Amino acid sequence: MRFLACCLLFAAAASAQNRSAVDWHKLEPEILANFTALLKIDTSNPPGNETQAAKAIQTILEREGIRCRLFALDPARANLVARIKGTGKKKPVLILGHTDVVGVQRERWTVDPFGAINKNGVIYARGARDDKPHVVAGIMILLLLKRMNIQLDRDVIFLAEAGEEGTSTYGVDYMVKEHWPEIEAEYAIAEGGSIVEEKGKPHHVLISTTEKSPQRMRLVAHGPAGHGSRPEMANAVVHLAEAVARAGNWQTPMRLSDTTRTYFERLAAISPPDLAARYRDILDPARAAEVDRYFRKSEPGHYSILRTSVVPTIINIGFRSNVIPSEGEATLDVRALPDEDMTKFVAALRRVIDDPSIEVIPPKNSARPVAPPSRIDTDLFRAFENVGRRMFNVPTLPNMMTGATDNAQLRAKGVQAYGTGPIVTPDEGPLGGAHGDDEHISVRSLMALIEYLWNTLLELG
Ligand SMILES: [Zn+2]
Repeated sequence: MRFLACCLLFAAAASAQNRSAVDWHKLEPEILANFTALLKIDTSNPPGNETQAAKAIQTILEREGIRCRLFALDPARANLVARIKGTGKKKPVLILGHTDVVGVQRERWTVDPFGAINKNGVIYARGARDDKPHVVAGIMILLLLKRMNIQLDRDVIFLAEAGEEGTSTYGVDYMVKEHWPEIEAEYAIAEGGSIVEEKGKPHHVLISTTEKSPQRMRLVAHGPAGHGSRPEMANAVVHLAEAVARAGNWQTPMRLSDTTRTYFERLAAISPPDLAARYRDILDPARAAEVDRYFRKSEPGHYSILRTSVVPTIINIGFRSNVIPSEGEATLDVRALPDEDMTKFVAALRRVIDDPSIEVIPPKNSARPVAPPSRIDTDLFRAFENVGRRMFNVPTLPNMMTGATDNAQLRAKGVQAYGTGPIVTPDEGPLGGAHGDDEHISVRSLMALIEYLWNTLLELG
């Protein structure tokens, strides 16, 4: 009897696996057709025109009986939501991708940025990385769940959102404020991570669990206007230049968090000895300062995740070569650690600049809400770890993004939100060429992301 029960259980488990086995090779042409169709829709933001993309997605999903709803603050900029019902035992999981893309400088591209041509297994188009892979992943996951009649123990919601590239009013802010019940979830999966390859094979999976908070600041210099022939101690150009140099050269205090500590520990465990020593030393208060100096020179990404960073990006002062201007300003791209006390930070910045003729003006409100990092002891994070092991035999590292994503708004609502991504190779750099000219992705990399997300959802249950 026990033997029989055991056999039945085994058979049930095996058939559950078979039922969810996907022939990815067979599915590839369909995935590529949907992906290139999306890439050919010019959703450059501004103006966005995301409704065109939302309608294309609606056609694909509704033709197989998956109902879609469009939500738009501006009729040209619709968000799409679709849902596959689970048993309802657990709270939903949300998969999101943004349909808008950043603009292009066409003259710098060697191919049509909206042609989506495939050259030797590599697809070139704006949005090929950022973020249409997640959009097509969401589409395919819903289609597969529906076709295979798989019911998970939670709903799977897909949000194809507008306005991620700097205009979240139309996208995530609007959905969170006005249509929260449509996308309310325990977990969210969006952009922001990657499957990192080295020497031609996967090395580790990066899952972003938190991100820095953009806090653009202005430095405004004031001084007397004057004749360019008469040197003037109060010259606003000189004062502004000195203030920018001091702010830009300021080595802000470094600080580890749970995310960055775990990240460096796990990175040390899989790095060659010299690198591993460095990643361990950054965790050792006695040795950290030396490594931090090294990061400052040679690993800006690592330098940035250890601190609130200050990067001057714009200087605007003067209008004639023979006139001392009375006013001008500079912009600092400040990226704060999630737990930074900004009032104290601005006070410290003023002390560093130490010049009463320079006004330091913090942003009225930050571009994105600030929230604690998503946890690394959740069922979803464990599912990422298990699938990373099973598919690629590599560990999973939690990561703090230096850039900003719509996950910030979801974390602020209490969602455990994670960033995933396709394969990146060393020559593609850590961001895989997102926002660059000739943006591209290999078919292999796209397929890996979709399969990885699919397996993770099944692993989650
Ligand atoms: Zn993006």
